[in-house]
Amino acid sequence: NARLYQDLEAANKSLESKVEQRTLELQQEIIDRKRAEQVAEAANRAKSEFLANMSHELRTPLNGILGYTQILKKDRALTDPQKNGLNTIHRCGEHLLMLINDVLDLSKIEARRMELYLNDFQLRDFLEEIVAICRIRAEQKGILFTYKVLSPLPKLIRADEKRLRQVLINLLSNAVKFTENGGVTFKVGYVDHFEDSALTQTSSKLRFQVEDTGIGITQEHLQEIFLPFRQVSDRHRQIEGTGLGLGISRQLVQLMGSDINVQSTPGKGSIFWVDLDLAEVDCPSDIPSPDRRCVRGYQGGKRKILVVDDREENRLVLTNMLQPLGFEVVEAIDGREALHKAHQFRPDAILMDLVMPVMDGFEATRQIRMSPSLQQTVIIATSASAFDMDRQQSRNVGCHDFLPKPIHEAELLERLSLHLKLEWIYEESSAERKDSVQPTLLAGQSPPAPNTQDASPLIAPPAEEIAALLNLAMMGDLQAIAERAAKLETLDPQLIPFATHLRQLAKGFKARQIREFIKQFQMSE
Ligand code: ADP
Repeated sequence: NARLYQDLEAANKSLESKVEQRTLELQQEIIDRKRAEQVAEAANRAKSEFLANMSHELRTPLNGILGYTQILKKDRALTDPQKNGLNTIHRCGEHLLMLINDVLDLSKIEARRMELYLNDFQLRDFLEEIVAICRIRAEQKGILFTYKVLSPLPKLIRADEKRLRQVLINLLSNAVKFTENGGVTFKVGYVDHFEDSALTQTSSKLRFQVEDTGIGITQEHLQEIFLPFRQVSDRHRQIEGTGLGLGISRQLVQLMGSDINVQSTPGKGSIFWVDLDLAEVDCPSDIPSPDRRCVRGYQGGKRKILVVDDREENRLVLTNMLQPLGFEVVEAIDGREALHKAHQFRPDAILMDLVMPVMDGFEATRQIRMSPSLQQTVIIATSASAFDMDRQQSRNVGCHDFLPKPIHEAELLERLSLHLKLEWIYEESSAERKDSVQPTLLAGQSPPAPNTQDASPLIAPPAEEIAALLNLAMMGDLQAIAERAAKLETLDPQLIPFATHLRQLAKGFKARQIREFIKQFQMSE
Protein backbone atom coordinates (compact mmCIF):
# COMPACT_ATOMS: atom_id res chain seq x y z
CA ASN A 1 0.00 0.00 0.00
CA ALA A 2 2.77 2.34 1.02
CA ARG A 3 4.52 1.48 -2.23
CA LEU A 4 1.46 2.20 -4.23
CA TYR A 5 1.08 5.48 -2.42
CA GLN A 6 4.69 6.40 -3.24
CA ASP A 7 4.17 5.53 -6.87
CA LEU A 8 1.04 7.60 -7.01
CA GLU A 9 2.81 10.48 -5.34
CA ALA A 10 5.62 10.29 -7.86
CA ALA A 11 3.22 10.09 -10.76
CA ASN A 12 1.35 13.04 -9.38
CA LYS A 13 4.53 15.06 -9.03
CA SER A 14 5.68 14.30 -12.52
CA LEU A 15 2.26 15.22 -13.83
CA GLU A 16 2.31 18.47 -11.91
CA SER A 17 5.69 19.39 -13.26
CA LYS A 18 4.54 18.48 -16.75
CA VAL A 19 1.48 20.69 -16.40
CA GLU A 20 3.67 23.46 -15.08
CA GLN A 21 6.05 23.13 -17.97
CA ARG A 22 3.26 23.04 -20.52
CA THR A 23 1.69 26.10 -18.92
CA LEU A 24 4.98 27.94 -19.25
CA GLU A 25 5.26 26.83 -22.86
CA LEU A 26 1.72 27.99 -23.57
CA GLN A 27 2.38 31.33 -21.95
CA GLN A 28 5.46 31.70 -24.09
CA GLU A 29 3.44 30.78 -27.19
CA ILE A 30 0.86 33.40 -26.34
CA ILE A 31 3.57 35.99 -25.86
CA ASP A 32 5.18 34.99 -29.15
CA ARG A 33 1.89 35.14 -30.99
CA LYS A 34 1.08 38.55 -29.51
CA ARG A 35 4.49 39.78 -30.52
CA ALA A 36 4.00 38.48 -34.06
CA GLU A 37 0.59 40.14 -34.20
CA GLN A 38 2.07 43.41 -33.04
CA VAL A 39 4.77 43.20 -35.67
CA ALA A 40 2.21 42.46 -38.38
CA GLU A 41 -0.02 45.26 -37.16
CA ALA A 42 2.87 47.70 -37.15
CA ALA A 43 3.79 46.62 -40.67
CA ASN A 44 0.19 47.10 -41.79
CA ARG A 45 0.03 50.50 -40.18
CA ALA A 46 3.27 51.47 -41.86
CA LYS A 47 1.87 50.33 -45.19
CA SER A 48 -1.39 52.23 -44.76
CA GLU A 49 0.54 55.29 -43.73
CA PHE A 50 2.85 54.99 -46.71
CA LEU A 51 -0.11 54.65 -49.06
CA ALA A 52 -1.88 57.61 -47.52
CA ASN A 53 1.25 59.76 -47.74
CA MET A 54 1.88 58.74 -51.29
CA SER A 55 -1.67 59.56 -52.24
CA HIS A 56 -1.21 63.00 -50.69
CA GLU A 57 1.88 63.60 -52.78
CA LEU A 58 0.15 62.50 -55.97
CA ARG A 59 -3.03 64.42 -55.33
CA THR A 60 -1.28 67.73 -54.80
CA PRO A 61 -0.18 68.28 -58.41
CA LEU A 62 -3.59 67.04 -59.55
CA ASN A 63 -5.16 69.92 -57.69
CA GLY A 64 -3.37 72.27 -60.06
CA ILE A 65 -4.45 70.33 -63.13
CA LEU A 66 -8.09 69.81 -62.20
CA GLY A 67 -8.39 73.28 -60.71
CA TYR A 68 -7.30 74.93 -63.92
CA THR A 69 -9.40 72.81 -66.21
CA GLN A 70 -12.41 73.89 -64.16
CA ILE A 71 -11.42 77.55 -64.39
CA LEU A 72 -10.50 77.53 -68.08
CA LYS A 73 -13.67 75.69 -69.05
CA LYS A 74 -15.64 78.79 -68.10
CA ASP A 75 -13.79 81.02 -70.54
CA ARG A 76 -16.38 82.15 -73.07
CA ALA A 77 -13.80 82.79 -75.78
CA LEU A 78 -12.94 79.08 -76.08
CA THR A 79 -13.36 77.40 -79.44
CA ASP A 80 -15.12 74.03 -79.59
CA PRO A 81 -11.91 72.01 -80.14
CA GLN A 82 -10.34 73.79 -77.18
CA LYS A 83 -13.38 73.03 -75.06
CA ASN A 84 -13.19 69.37 -76.05
CA GLY A 85 -9.51 69.26 -75.27
CA LEU A 86 -10.06 70.78 -71.85
CA ASN A 87 -12.86 68.36 -71.13
CA THR A 88 -10.54 65.49 -71.98
CA ILE A 89 -7.78 66.81 -69.73
CA HIS A 90 -10.31 67.20 -66.99
CA ARG A 91 -11.73 63.72 -67.38
CA CYS A 92 -8.31 62.12 -67.53
CA GLY A 93 -7.28 64.05 -64.44
CA GLU A 94 -10.37 62.82 -62.67
CA HIS A 95 -9.51 59.31 -63.76
CA LEU A 96 -6.01 59.61 -62.41
CA LEU A 97 -7.46 60.77 -59.16
CA MET A 98 -9.64 57.69 -59.10
CA LEU A 99 -6.64 55.46 -59.57
CA ILE A 100 -4.85 57.08 -56.69
CA ASN A 101 -7.90 56.57 -54.57
CA ASP A 102 -7.96 52.91 -55.59
CA VAL A 103 -4.69 52.25 -53.90
CA LEU A 104 -6.02 53.86 -50.78
CA ASP A 105 -9.24 51.88 -50.97
CA LEU A 106 -7.38 48.66 -50.99
CA SER A 107 -5.64 49.52 -47.78
CA LYS A 108 -9.01 50.48 -46.31
CA ILE A 109 -10.58 47.22 -47.44
CA GLU A 110 -7.72 45.29 -45.94
CA ALA A 111 -8.20 47.13 -42.69
CA ARG A 112 -11.98 46.47 -42.98
CA ARG A 113 -12.76 50.14 -42.83
CA MET A 114 -14.61 50.44 -46.12
CA GLU A 115 -18.11 51.93 -46.05
CA LEU A 116 -20.66 53.04 -48.63
CA TYR A 117 -21.94 56.62 -48.75
CA LEU A 118 -25.31 56.92 -50.49
CA ASN A 119 -26.38 59.97 -52.43
CA ASP A 120 -29.06 60.80 -55.00
CA PHE A 121 -27.94 61.31 -58.57
CA GLN A 122 -29.15 61.37 -62.17
CA LEU A 123 -28.52 57.95 -63.62
CA ARG A 124 -28.51 59.06 -67.24
CA ASP A 125 -25.91 61.78 -66.80
CA PHE A 126 -23.88 59.46 -64.65
CA LEU A 127 -23.80 56.74 -67.30
CA GLU A 128 -23.11 59.15 -70.14
CA GLU A 129 -20.12 60.53 -68.35
CA ILE A 130 -18.69 57.04 -67.87
CA VAL A 131 -19.38 56.17 -71.48
CA ALA A 132 -17.58 59.31 -72.63
CA ILE A 133 -14.46 58.39 -70.69
CA CYS A 134 -14.37 54.81 -71.95
CA ARG A 135 -15.24 55.75 -75.51
CA ILE A 136 -12.13 57.92 -75.71
CA ARG A 137 -9.99 54.99 -74.66
CA ALA A 138 -11.62 52.63 -77.12
CA GLU A 139 -11.21 55.15 -79.93
CA GLN A 140 -7.57 55.57 -79.09
CA LYS A 141 -7.17 51.83 -79.46
CA GLY A 142 -9.15 51.74 -82.66
CA ILE A 143 -11.88 49.43 -81.39
CA LEU A 144 -15.62 49.96 -81.38
CA PHE A 145 -17.47 51.14 -78.33
CA THR A 146 -21.23 50.70 -78.14
CA TYR A 147 -23.56 51.90 -75.42
CA LYS A 148 -27.03 50.34 -75.31
CA VAL A 149 -29.84 51.28 -72.98
CA LEU A 150 -32.15 48.27 -73.04
CA SER A 151 -35.04 49.60 -71.01
CA PRO A 152 -36.25 52.90 -69.62
CA LEU A 153 -34.03 53.84 -66.73
CA PRO A 154 -35.01 55.47 -63.47
CA LYS A 155 -34.14 59.15 -63.51
CA LEU A 156 -32.81 59.68 -60.06
CA ILE A 157 -31.34 56.87 -58.01
CA ARG A 158 -29.87 56.51 -54.58
CA ALA A 159 -26.53 54.71 -54.41
CA ASP A 160 -22.88 55.28 -53.68
CA GLU A 161 -22.22 57.18 -56.90
CA LYS A 162 -18.47 57.25 -56.54
CA ARG A 163 -18.20 53.54 -55.85
CA LEU A 164 -20.60 52.54 -58.58
CA ARG A 165 -18.62 54.63 -61.06
CA GLN A 166 -15.43 53.01 -59.86
CA VAL A 167 -16.80 49.51 -60.44
CA LEU A 168 -18.18 50.29 -63.90
CA ILE A 169 -15.06 52.07 -65.06
CA ASN A 170 -13.01 49.15 -63.85
CA LEU A 171 -15.05 46.65 -65.86
CA LEU A 172 -15.16 48.87 -68.94
CA SER A 173 -11.48 49.75 -68.89
CA ASN A 174 -10.59 46.10 -68.54
CA ALA A 175 -12.77 45.26 -71.50
CA VAL A 176 -11.07 47.93 -73.62
CA LYS A 177 -7.65 46.94 -72.36
CA PHE A 178 -8.02 43.27 -73.19
CA THR A 179 -9.62 43.72 -76.60
CA GLU A 180 -7.59 44.20 -79.76
CA ASN A 181 -10.21 43.48 -82.42
CA GLY A 182 -13.93 44.06 -82.52
CA GLY A 183 -15.19 46.07 -79.63
CA VAL A 184 -16.78 46.62 -76.28
CA THR A 185 -20.50 46.88 -75.62
CA PHE A 186 -21.92 48.42 -72.49
CA LYS A 187 -25.55 47.46 -71.82
CA VAL A 188 -27.74 48.87 -69.11
CA GLY A 189 -31.33 48.03 -68.30
CA TYR A 190 -33.66 46.15 -66.03
CA VAL A 191 -32.65 42.50 -65.78
CA ASP A 192 -35.67 41.18 -67.68
CA HIS A 193 -34.68 43.16 -70.77
CA PHE A 194 -31.56 41.10 -71.38
CA GLU A 195 -31.83 38.48 -74.12
CA ASP A 196 -30.65 35.63 -71.96
CA SER A 197 -32.81 36.61 -69.03
CA ALA A 198 -34.74 33.61 -67.75
CA LEU A 199 -37.10 35.89 -65.90
CA THR A 200 -40.71 35.92 -66.93
CA GLN A 201 -41.68 38.61 -64.49
CA THR A 202 -40.42 42.15 -64.44
CA SER A 203 -37.50 42.62 -62.13
CA SER A 204 -36.57 45.63 -60.06
CA LYS A 205 -32.89 44.95 -60.52
CA LEU A 206 -30.81 47.00 -62.89
CA ARG A 207 -28.14 45.17 -64.82
CA PHE A 208 -24.88 46.75 -65.94
CA GLN A 209 -23.24 44.47 -68.48
CA VAL A 210 -19.88 44.83 -70.18
CA GLU A 211 -19.20 42.62 -73.18
CA ASP A 212 -15.98 42.43 -75.10
CA THR A 213 -14.59 40.51 -78.04
CA GLY A 214 -11.14 40.35 -76.46
CA ILE A 215 -8.68 37.73 -75.32
CA GLY A 216 -11.01 36.07 -72.83
CA ILE A 217 -10.05 34.28 -69.62
CA THR A 218 -9.48 30.56 -69.13
CA GLN A 219 -11.64 28.62 -66.69
CA GLU A 220 -8.82 28.14 -64.21
CA HIS A 221 -7.95 31.83 -64.22
CA LEU A 222 -11.53 32.93 -63.67
CA GLN A 223 -11.17 32.13 -59.98
CA GLU A 224 -8.03 34.17 -59.66
CA ILE A 225 -8.87 37.45 -61.32
CA PHE A 226 -10.65 38.77 -58.27
CA LEU A 227 -7.67 38.30 -55.98
CA PRO A 228 -5.58 41.40 -55.32
CA PHE A 229 -2.47 41.83 -57.45
CA ARG A 230 -3.51 38.93 -59.65
CA GLN A 231 -2.96 39.46 -63.33
CA VAL A 232 -3.37 36.41 -65.45
CA SER A 233 -2.64 37.78 -68.88
CA ASP A 234 0.68 38.09 -70.67
CA ARG A 235 3.44 40.42 -69.53
CA HIS A 236 2.80 43.15 -72.05
CA ARG A 237 -0.63 43.91 -70.69
CA GLN A 238 0.31 43.59 -67.07
CA ILE A 239 2.32 46.77 -67.27
CA GLU A 240 -0.84 48.80 -67.81
CA GLY A 241 -2.75 47.89 -64.67
CA THR A 242 -2.31 47.50 -60.97
CA GLY A 243 -4.12 44.20 -60.68
CA LEU A 244 -6.18 45.77 -57.92
CA GLY A 245 -9.29 46.76 -59.80
CA LEU A 246 -11.39 43.62 -59.77
CA GLY A 247 -10.51 42.77 -56.19
CA ILE A 248 -11.74 46.15 -55.03
CA SER A 249 -14.72 46.15 -57.36
CA ARG A 250 -15.96 42.79 -56.13
CA GLN A 251 -15.67 43.90 -52.50
CA LEU A 252 -17.61 47.05 -53.33
CA VAL A 253 -20.34 45.22 -55.20
CA GLN A 254 -20.63 42.77 -52.33
CA LEU A 255 -21.05 45.70 -49.97
CA MET A 256 -23.88 46.80 -52.28
CA GLY A 257 -25.50 43.42 -51.70
CA SER A 258 -24.65 41.74 -54.98
CA ASP A 259 -21.69 40.24 -56.82
CA ILE A 260 -19.75 40.51 -60.06
CA ASN A 261 -20.63 37.75 -62.52
CA VAL A 262 -18.41 36.70 -65.35
CA GLN A 263 -18.58 34.43 -68.37
CA SER A 264 -15.64 34.11 -70.67
CA THR A 265 -14.34 32.14 -73.60
CA PRO A 266 -10.61 32.30 -74.27
CA GLY A 267 -9.95 33.85 -77.67
CA LYS A 268 -13.55 35.01 -78.03
CA GLY A 269 -14.26 37.46 -75.28
CA SER A 270 -15.80 38.05 -71.89
CA ILE A 271 -19.01 39.25 -70.32
CA PHE A 272 -18.97 40.84 -66.90
CA TRP A 273 -22.24 41.86 -65.28
CA VAL A 274 -23.60 43.23 -62.04
CA ASP A 275 -27.27 43.22 -60.98
CA LEU A 276 -28.13 45.86 -58.45
CA ASP A 277 -31.24 46.77 -56.56
CA LEU A 278 -30.93 50.52 -56.89
CA ALA A 279 -33.54 52.51 -55.10
CA GLU A 280 -35.26 55.03 -57.31
CA VAL A 281 -35.81 58.43 -55.82
CA ASP A 282 -38.69 60.78 -56.67
CA CYS A 283 -37.50 63.88 -58.46
CA PRO A 284 -39.12 66.86 -56.83
CA SER A 285 -38.88 68.87 -60.06
CA ASP A 286 -36.80 69.32 -63.12
CA ILE A 287 -34.45 71.88 -61.65
CA PRO A 288 -31.05 71.37 -63.19
CA SER A 289 -28.55 70.21 -60.61
CA PRO A 290 -26.64 73.19 -59.21
CA ASP A 291 -23.29 72.14 -60.64
CA ARG A 292 -24.74 72.28 -64.14
CA ARG A 293 -25.72 75.87 -63.77
CA CYS A 294 -22.97 78.37 -64.05
CA VAL A 295 -22.53 80.66 -61.06
CA ARG A 296 -21.61 84.19 -62.14
CA GLY A 297 -21.67 86.00 -58.82
CA TYR A 298 -23.55 86.44 -55.58
CA GLN A 299 -26.07 88.85 -54.10
CA GLY A 300 -25.04 91.55 -51.67
CA GLY A 301 -21.80 93.30 -50.75
CA LYS A 302 -18.28 92.18 -51.50
CA ARG A 303 -16.98 89.29 -49.40
CA LYS A 304 -13.36 88.80 -48.48
CA ILE A 305 -11.57 85.48 -48.57
CA LEU A 306 -8.11 84.60 -47.34
CA VAL A 307 -6.53 81.71 -49.23
CA VAL A 308 -3.78 79.95 -47.29
CA ASP A 309 -1.56 77.39 -49.01
CA ASP A 310 2.17 76.92 -49.29
CA ARG A 311 1.89 75.86 -52.92
CA GLU A 312 1.49 78.57 -55.46
CA GLU A 313 -0.58 76.48 -57.87
CA ASN A 314 -3.10 75.70 -55.17
CA ARG A 315 -3.46 79.36 -54.24
CA LEU A 316 -3.81 80.30 -57.88
CA VAL A 317 -6.56 77.75 -58.43
CA LEU A 318 -8.65 79.06 -55.55
CA THR A 319 -8.00 82.70 -56.35
CA ASN A 320 -8.97 82.17 -59.96
CA MET A 321 -12.12 80.35 -58.98
CA LEU A 322 -13.19 83.05 -56.54
CA GLN A 323 -12.12 86.39 -58.01
CA PRO A 324 -14.27 86.21 -61.15
CA LEU A 325 -17.31 85.68 -58.92
CA GLY A 326 -16.64 88.99 -57.19
CA PHE A 327 -14.80 87.87 -54.07
CA GLU A 328 -11.90 89.90 -52.80
CA VAL A 329 -9.06 87.44 -52.33
CA VAL A 330 -5.84 87.72 -50.38
CA GLU A 331 -3.24 84.95 -50.25
CA ALA A 332 -0.93 83.71 -47.52
CA ILE A 333 1.83 81.15 -47.93
CA ASP A 334 1.86 79.61 -44.46
CA GLY A 335 0.14 79.66 -41.11
CA ARG A 336 2.14 82.53 -39.73
CA GLU A 337 1.40 84.79 -42.67
CA ALA A 338 -2.22 83.69 -42.48
CA LEU A 339 -2.40 84.88 -38.91
CA HIS A 340 -0.96 88.22 -39.80
CA LYS A 341 -3.18 88.72 -42.84
CA ALA A 342 -6.29 87.58 -41.01
CA HIS A 343 -5.83 90.44 -38.55
CA GLN A 344 -5.02 92.94 -41.23
CA PHE A 345 -7.57 91.94 -43.87
CA ARG A 346 -10.46 90.69 -41.69
CA PRO A 347 -11.71 88.08 -44.15
CA ASP A 348 -15.24 86.68 -44.09
CA ALA A 349 -13.81 83.23 -44.72
CA ILE A 350 -10.41 81.55 -44.66
CA LEU A 351 -9.56 78.57 -46.86
CA MET A 352 -6.84 76.92 -44.84
CA ASP A 353 -4.43 74.30 -46.10
CA LEU A 354 -3.45 71.98 -43.27
CA VAL A 355 0.05 70.77 -44.06
CA MET A 356 2.43 73.74 -44.45
CA PRO A 357 5.94 74.65 -43.37
CA VAL A 358 6.69 77.28 -40.67
CA MET A 359 3.23 77.03 -39.12
CA ASP A 360 0.68 74.46 -40.21
CA GLY A 361 -3.03 75.01 -40.66
CA PHE A 362 -3.98 73.37 -37.38
CA GLU A 363 -1.81 75.72 -35.34
CA ALA A 364 -2.86 78.77 -37.36
CA THR A 365 -6.53 77.92 -36.85
CA ARG A 366 -5.98 77.40 -33.14
CA GLN A 367 -4.32 80.81 -32.82
CA ILE A 368 -6.93 82.55 -34.94
CA ARG A 369 -9.64 81.12 -32.71
CA MET A 370 -7.88 82.56 -29.65
CA SER A 371 -8.11 86.07 -31.02
CA PRO A 372 -11.45 87.59 -29.90
CA SER A 373 -11.88 89.59 -33.09
CA LEU A 374 -11.48 86.54 -35.32
CA GLN A 375 -13.42 83.99 -33.34
CA GLN A 376 -16.39 84.05 -35.70
CA THR A 377 -14.44 83.97 -38.97
CA VAL A 378 -15.42 81.01 -41.13
CA ILE A 379 -12.47 78.68 -41.59
CA ILE A 380 -12.65 75.85 -44.11
CA ALA A 381 -9.79 73.38 -44.08
CA THR A 382 -8.50 72.25 -47.49
CA SER A 383 -6.38 69.18 -47.62
CA ALA A 384 -5.09 66.45 -49.88
CA SER A 385 -4.69 64.24 -46.86
CA ALA A 386 -6.42 60.91 -46.89
CA PHE A 387 -6.49 60.50 -43.15
CA ASP A 388 -9.97 60.78 -41.69
CA MET A 389 -8.11 61.80 -38.58
CA ASP A 390 -7.06 65.10 -40.18
CA ARG A 391 -10.64 65.94 -40.96
CA GLN A 392 -11.61 65.33 -37.36
CA GLN A 393 -8.62 67.20 -36.00
CA SER A 394 -9.30 70.20 -38.20
CA ARG A 395 -12.73 70.39 -36.61
CA ASN A 396 -11.27 70.02 -33.16
CA VAL A 397 -9.02 73.04 -33.60
CA GLY A 398 -11.95 75.12 -34.83
CA CYS A 399 -12.46 74.71 -38.58
CA HIS A 400 -16.08 74.92 -39.71
CA ASP A 401 -15.67 72.53 -42.57
CA PHE A 402 -13.29 70.42 -44.62
CA LEU A 403 -12.76 70.39 -48.38
CA PRO A 404 -10.76 67.56 -49.88
CA LYS A 405 -8.24 68.38 -52.61
CA PRO A 406 -8.37 68.43 -55.57
CA ILE A 407 -10.95 71.13 -54.98
CA HIS A 408 -14.18 70.74 -56.93
CA GLU A 409 -15.59 74.12 -57.72
CA ALA A 410 -19.19 73.07 -57.12
CA GLU A 411 -18.29 71.74 -53.70
CA LEU A 412 -16.31 74.85 -52.81
CA LEU A 413 -19.22 77.09 -53.77
CA GLU A 414 -21.68 74.93 -51.89
CA ARG A 415 -19.66 75.22 -48.69
CA LEU A 416 -19.15 78.95 -49.09
CA SER A 417 -22.82 79.56 -49.67
CA LEU A 418 -23.63 77.47 -46.62
CA HIS A 419 -21.25 79.21 -44.24
CA LEU A 420 -21.42 82.73 -45.66
CA LYS A 421 -25.16 82.49 -46.37
CA LEU A 422 -24.63 83.50 -49.98
CA GLU A 423 -27.23 83.60 -52.66
CA TRP A 424 -25.76 82.83 -56.07
CA ILE A 425 -26.49 84.64 -59.28
CA TYR A 426 -26.59 82.15 -62.14
CA GLU A 427 -25.87 82.65 -65.76
CA GLU A 428 -29.29 82.70 -67.39
CA SER A 429 -28.86 80.71 -70.57
CA SER A 430 -27.19 77.78 -68.87
CA ALA A 431 -30.35 77.03 -66.94
CA GLU A 432 -31.80 75.55 -70.08
CA ARG A 433 -30.86 71.97 -70.73
CA LYS A 434 -29.32 71.31 -74.08
CA ASP A 435 -31.30 68.20 -74.89
CA SER A 436 -31.15 66.94 -78.43
CA VAL A 437 -33.97 67.71 -80.83
CA GLN A 438 -36.61 65.05 -80.43
CA PRO A 439 -39.29 63.91 -82.86
CA THR A 440 -42.87 63.51 -81.64
CA LEU A 441 -43.16 64.32 -77.98
CA LEU A 442 -46.04 63.54 -75.75
CA ALA A 443 -46.29 64.43 -72.12
CA GLY A 444 -46.65 61.30 -70.01
CA GLN A 445 -50.44 61.08 -69.97
CA SER A 446 -50.40 57.33 -70.15
CA PRO A 447 -50.05 55.24 -67.01
CA PRO A 448 -46.41 54.29 -66.64
CA ALA A 449 -45.43 50.70 -67.27
CA PRO A 450 -44.51 48.68 -64.17
CA ASN A 451 -40.82 49.47 -64.47
CA THR A 452 -41.02 52.51 -66.69
CA GLN A 453 -40.21 54.97 -63.99
CA ASP A 454 -38.59 57.37 -66.37
CA ALA A 455 -40.58 60.56 -66.09
CA SER A 456 -39.31 62.01 -69.35
CA PRO A 457 -41.86 62.31 -72.16
CA LEU A 458 -42.21 59.27 -74.40
CA ILE A 459 -40.90 59.53 -77.91
CA ALA A 460 -43.25 57.96 -80.43
CA PRO A 461 -42.52 56.50 -83.86
CA PRO A 462 -43.70 58.24 -87.05
CA ALA A 463 -47.40 58.41 -88.02
CA GLU A 464 -47.35 55.43 -90.44
CA GLU A 465 -45.96 53.22 -87.74
CA ILE A 466 -48.60 54.40 -85.29
CA ALA A 467 -51.26 53.62 -87.87
CA ALA A 468 -49.89 50.12 -88.44
CA LEU A 469 -49.72 49.45 -84.72
CA LEU A 470 -53.24 50.71 -84.20
CA ASN A 471 -54.42 48.43 -86.95
CA LEU A 472 -52.85 45.42 -85.24
CA ALA A 473 -54.29 46.53 -81.92
CA MET A 474 -57.77 46.73 -83.39
CA MET A 475 -57.36 43.16 -84.65
CA GLY A 476 -56.08 42.12 -81.25
CA ASP A 477 -52.86 40.68 -82.67
CA LEU A 478 -50.76 41.07 -79.56
CA GLN A 479 -48.01 38.80 -80.82
CA ALA A 480 -47.47 40.98 -83.88
CA ILE A 481 -47.48 44.12 -81.73
CA ALA A 482 -44.76 42.69 -79.49
CA GLU A 483 -42.66 41.78 -82.52
CA ARG A 484 -43.11 45.19 -84.10
CA ALA A 485 -42.16 46.87 -80.83
CA ALA A 486 -38.99 44.81 -80.67
CA LYS A 487 -38.09 45.89 -84.20
CA LEU A 488 -38.73 49.55 -83.37
CA GLU A 489 -36.26 49.35 -80.51
CA THR A 490 -33.47 48.18 -82.72
CA LEU A 491 -34.27 50.83 -85.33
CA ASP A 492 -33.99 53.74 -82.96
CA PRO A 493 -32.87 53.60 -79.33
CA GLN A 494 -34.94 56.70 -78.63
CA LEU A 495 -38.03 54.57 -79.12
CA ILE A 496 -37.05 52.12 -76.41
CA PRO A 497 -39.37 53.56 -73.72
CA PHE A 498 -42.31 53.56 -76.14
CA ALA A 499 -41.60 50.05 -77.38
CA THR A 500 -41.00 48.67 -73.91
CA HIS A 501 -44.29 49.95 -72.64
CA LEU A 502 -46.06 48.48 -75.62
CA ARG A 503 -44.35 45.15 -75.22
CA GLN A 504 -45.19 44.95 -71.57
CA LEU A 505 -48.85 45.64 -72.26
CA ALA A 506 -48.78 42.96 -74.97
CA LYS A 507 -47.16 40.50 -72.57
CA GLY A 508 -49.95 41.16 -70.09
CA PHE A 509 -52.63 40.70 -72.81
CA LYS A 510 -53.86 44.24 -72.21
CA ALA A 511 -55.48 44.75 -75.63
CA ARG A 512 -57.74 47.59 -74.61
CA GLN A 513 -54.94 49.50 -72.90
CA ILE A 514 -52.76 49.03 -75.95
CA ARG A 515 -55.41 50.58 -78.16
CA GLU A 516 -55.81 53.54 -75.82
CA PHE A 517 -52.07 53.98 -75.55
CA ILE A 518 -51.52 54.03 -79.30
CA LYS A 519 -54.55 56.24 -79.94
CA GLN A 520 -53.05 59.01 -77.83
CA PHE A 521 -50.19 59.27 -80.26
CA GLN A 522 -52.52 59.22 -83.21
CA MET A 523 -54.43 62.14 -81.78
CA SER A 524 -51.30 64.10 -81.14
CA GLU A 525 -50.28 63.85 -84.78
P1 ADP B 1 -5.66 44.97 -63.93
O1 ADP B 1 -6.63 45.22 -65.02
O2 ADP B 1 -5.12 46.21 -63.33
O3 ADP B 1 -4.61 43.99 -64.27
P2 ADP B 1 -7.92 43.81 -62.53
O4 ADP B 1 -8.05 43.37 -61.11
O5 ADP B 1 -8.90 44.81 -63.02
O6 ADP B 1 -6.44 44.33 -62.70
O7 ADP B 1 -7.98 42.51 -63.43
C1 ADP B 1 -7.26 41.37 -63.04
C2 ADP B 1 -6.95 40.50 -64.22
O8 ADP B 1 -8.13 39.90 -64.74
C3 ADP B 1 -6.34 41.24 -65.40
O9 ADP B 1 -4.97 41.44 -65.25
C4 ADP B 1 -6.68 40.29 -66.55
O10 ADP B 1 -5.74 39.26 -66.60
C5 ADP B 1 -8.01 39.70 -66.14
N1 ADP B 1 -9.13 40.40 -66.82
C6 ADP B 1 -9.96 41.30 -66.29
N2 ADP B 1 -10.89 41.72 -67.17
C7 ADP B 1 -10.65 41.06 -68.33
C8 ADP B 1 -11.28 41.04 -69.64
N3 ADP B 1 -12.34 41.81 -69.93
N4 ADP B 1 -10.75 40.22 -70.57
C9 ADP B 1 -9.68 39.44 -70.28
N5 ADP B 1 -9.06 39.41 -69.08
C10 ADP B 1 -9.52 40.19 -68.10
